[in-house]
Amino acid sequence: MEDFLSLELSELEGRIHELGQPRYRARQIFSWIHGRGVFRADEMHNLPGELRKRLAPLLSPLPVALEETLEAEDGTRKFRFRLRDGASIESVTIPEEKRTTLCVSTQVGCALGCLFCRTGRMGLRRNLRVEEILGQYYAIRSMSAGKTDLTHVVFMGMGEPLENLECTCRALKILTHPLGCGLSPRRLTVSTVGIPGPLEVLFHEIPVSITLSLNGADNETRSRLMPINRKHPIEEVLATLRRLPLAPRRRFTIAYVLIGGENDGLQDAQQLVRVLHGLRCKVNLIPFNPFPETELRGPKKADVTAFQEFLRSKGLSTHVRWSRGGDVLAACGQLSGDAL
Ligand code: SF4
Repeated sequence: MEDFLSLELSELEGRIHELGQPRYRARQIFSWIHGRGVFRADEMHNLPGELRKRLAPLLSPLPVALEETLEAEDGTRKFRFRLRDGASIESVTIPEEKRTTLCVSTQVGCALGCLFCRTGRMGLRRNLRVEEILGQYYAIRSMSAGKTDLTHVVFMGMGEPLENLECTCRALKILTHPLGCGLSPRRLTVSTVGIPGPLEVLFHEIPVSITLSLNGADNETRSRLMPINRKHPIEEVLATLRRLPLAPRRRFTIAYVLIGGENDGLQDAQQLVRVLHGLRCKVNLIPFNPFPETELRGPKKADVTAFQEFLRSKGLSTHVRWSRGGDVLAACGQLSGDAL
């Protein structure tokens, strides 16, 4: 039963109980699978032999197989995994001085078709299953063991996490469970275009950090860059964020990809300040990384600086995040599996 990997602890307790075993066995198994990345029953040494035998056919190996790793000059690494049905997905690790962030995918492709995103050009093939989302973390964690700890996980790879809400929430809960991967929710970030209903569900299910991918400060610009804006315009998305009861000292992150001549002018910066007024947030400006199939271009450095300075002059905490891994197409918005 392949889905053992996708079960939250309470569900696993139920399954183990059905096998006539005490519930604490489920905690042991959960900890082997998610805490230590052991997927074979015969390696779960603290289980009685009889239970190991019964478990063996119920556990299956990771459903993601590493096919290729590319390393960029800046140390960013892109991993391509093949799934059992032949589809492929990509994940990225980004090393920094004191942390290593893993960026995972939640879908094969994406239906939302943002103009600046390579994944969006694939269309949606399918949602990832919980074990396929977690499998990216487990596979890369075991490869990095003893070298680098994965300190942060961002759901920012291929796909829109809120379009695969249930699997996203389950994966987040397992990643943060003390007997699972034990990551603090603060070290997990979900990046989203901001679909109001699912956004509220996610917020109330698990207190991870939320990044809103905004990229346009008026509806005309945002709809041009992100078709989903026609369905959920800026006011609706920001009103949703304003309603969410953020814990003290926490803020939302607003991601804004700066695209040359599209949304990087001073008037865009002024409008951005207006729409974000009163929202507890910081702004990450991400200069666009062109990819082979696009005619969009990156912003001029002077325009990036002017944009940032204007936001800061109006009291908005603003950082420029130069994308990493552009030479191996691992930067923000450049992931595509091998489907293009
Ligand atoms: S930016 Fe995100 S939501 Fe938009 S097309 Fe790409 S993966 Fe989908």
